[in-house]
Amino acid sequence: MLNTNVLVLNRSYLPIHVTSVRRAFCLIYQGGARAVNARYETFDFHGWLESGFTAEGDVIGTSRGGMPVPRVIVLTHFDRLPKRQVRFSRTNIFTRDRFTCQYCAQRPPRAQLNLDHVIPKAQGGPTTWENIVCCCVPCNRRKGGRTPEQAGVRLRRRPKRPRWSPLVGIAPSGVRYREWKPFLNGFESSLDMLARGWREDGAAKYCKQ
Ligand SMILES: [Zn+2]
Repeated sequence: MLNTNVLVLNRSYLPIHVTSVRRAFCLIYQGGARAVNARYETFDFHGWLESGFTAEGDVIGTSRGGMPVPRVIVLTHFDRLPKRQVRFSRTNIFTRDRFTCQYCAQRPPRAQLNLDHVIPKAQGGPTTWENIVCCCVPCNRRKGGRTPEQAGVRLRRRPKRPRWSPLVGIAPSGVRYREWKPFLNGFESSLDMLARGWREDGAAKYCKQ
């Protein structure tokens, strides 16, 4: 529970990243952040404990009783703006492509996924968002140092640079909480994986893709 995820907002309520419950409690305790409840009310550490806000959230058992787990916190004196660019990395390319081979549409285990230069390096293909895709090992091998046309394979989707989202980098199997949804509007559209799978029934607190 202490390692589950909490959405971090800057002072303007823009999502900037995701942290652990443990770190969120430290921030709230030290006064660096306030907990946000479903009615967008904010609380310092003691206020949060006393708020009795346990309506539908998770609770951590302590010697003094149940302590509600915040799913959203807002920083009190830190004005970092959301990043505007997604870091170009293996994980983020896999995330953009939903861990799906962009040639055969299979989703093998991660260990059997590679990155593929659509236009091979040897033919002048750059190492960019627009030229790198997630690819399974067999397709990678089959395609070799050829373009999709030369290899007779079809690219499922044209690769693009994704827009930044605070959820980039969280594995697709990662848990996202309903409480985050109001704050993520506008950040989700490019990585449409983020739009899927939100739990809508009140009893359930989280979703898995
Ligand atoms: Zn494949």
